[in-house]
Amino acid sequence: MSIKLYNSLTNDIEPFVPVHDGFVKMYNCGPTVYSRIHIGNIRSFLVADLLKRYLKLRGYKVTQVMNITDVGHMTSDADEGEDKLQVAANREKLDPWQIADKYTQSFMDDLETLNIDKADVYPRATQHLNEMIEIIEKLVDNGYAYVVKGNVYFDVTKFPDYGKLSGNVLEKLQAQQRAVDDPYKRNPQDFVLWFSHSKYKNHIMKWDSPWGEGYPGWHIECSAMSLKYLTDAFNKQFHPNMASTIDIHTGGEDNKFPHHECEIAQSEGTTGQKFVNYWMHVTHLLVEGEKMSKSLGNIYTLPDILNMGYSPEAVRYVLLTTHYRQKLNFTFKSLLAAQNAINRLQELIFNLKNIENENGDFESGKFAENVKDNFLEELDKDLNIAGATGVLFDAVKTINKSLSYIGQQDAEILLDLLKEIDNILGIMDFSNQEPLEKEIQELIKQRNEARKIKDFTTADKIRENLKKHGIHLIDTPEGTIWKRRQ
Ligand code: ZN
Repeated sequence: MSIKLYNSLTNDIEPFVPVHDGFVKMYNCGPTVYSRIHIGNIRSFLVADLLKRYLKLRGYKVTQVMNITDVGHMTSDADEGEDKLQVAANREKLDPWQIADKYTQSFMDDLETLNIDKADVYPRATQHLNEMIEIIEKLVDNGYAYVVKGNVYFDVTKFPDYGKLSGNVLEKLQAQQRAVDDPYKRNPQDFVLWFSHSKYKNHIMKWDSPWGEGYPGWHIECSAMSLKYLTDAFNKQFHPNMASTIDIHTGGEDNKFPHHECEIAQSEGTTGQKFVNYWMHVTHLLVEGEKMSKSLGNIYTLPDILNMGYSPEAVRYVLLTTHYRQKLNFTFKSLLAAQNAINRLQELIFNLKNIENENGDFESGKFAENVKDNFLEELDKDLNIAGATGVLFDAVKTINKSLSYIGQQDAEILLDLLKEIDNILGIMDFSNQEPLEKEIQELIKQRNEARKIKDFTTADKIRENLKKHGIHLIDTPEGTIWKRRQ
């Protein structure tokens, strides 16, 4: 076994070697809780989930930390733009704390609905002000940061490695330099660690600090919380001899600069050790071939999609099965194809559970071992999920062809194989359910024909009949799909 991951830090595919044998420390940049997350955000969290489930199946003990950004932040380092939490608070007539609570809960709901494994900790920024202040003090002591009139800035000229992740090295930034955005900064490229003097006079979320009452900069929480929960700088609650270096840090590609670049500067400036060994960035998502935007009205949340009748499993499948470094084109047609793929798996599970032959002629043991090996070997190649699902559906085809001579014991082995694979995919249902795929497809066909000739009585009768058996029909622009609901 050799796990290979694409490392954004080196722009190369590298063998994965953890800091501590058998142990993986993973940090994922989490949501900013000022609105419901959209499917683009969800993709990034699902990639983290896939990675974690895969590493666990490969035998690693994974510690996963994902932050909840519940502090208002400017949309840039230059104290300009809007404070997203405050804007949401005004819009919804709540205070920023209530907004943060509300959307933290909805984020947790979405994780639950999509069968995303819980991280070990979801630290909230507002509960880690002391840790942030401690790091900022250390950065001032170490000579990386300076204080001007109650604001604290990171001096990027003091950190020669600045730009090593994004390629935005100081010389490049200087060449692109626009007007000085903040008169307190020594260099226009410096970024803020603490604001006591902001242009926002009536900022609600404020805390005491050695530099005055104010609030933290955009990036410091991730340095503080990853250090607290994944390294030995503050405690050793997860591992007795924890080094300060994290194994894997993930996030959306838009986080690479300035957010992750600044995290590196802050963390390495604090500990003097390498911050992260492997950086993984998830590519943007398109909806029906277009960038998500307010004007196109295509920024979908999970409830938006579920309310159209699609199942959480189909959403999970679509968001998971495109490689994380490829642009994912999210289409309603792909949701339909996903539901059909899931239904095929459910039909197979049902058939395997209802095998009548006591003894068969199909050697499941070796077959299952091979399929599992091949499935994992595809994922070893920088999470090649398309290859892995290819292995799965080839196996499904083979098993389906062999159903008449599979014995009950071999069926159990094949069911165990599917369960192991589903430890990673998280889309299958092993409770006893009859899929009746063929019969349902036949009834859907009859109903469509009835609708074509405007015989709505028959069409409705078929729908009601299926409903009685727990089968719900969903009419989408791409055709009719079915979903089982209790
Ligand atoms: Zn972060």
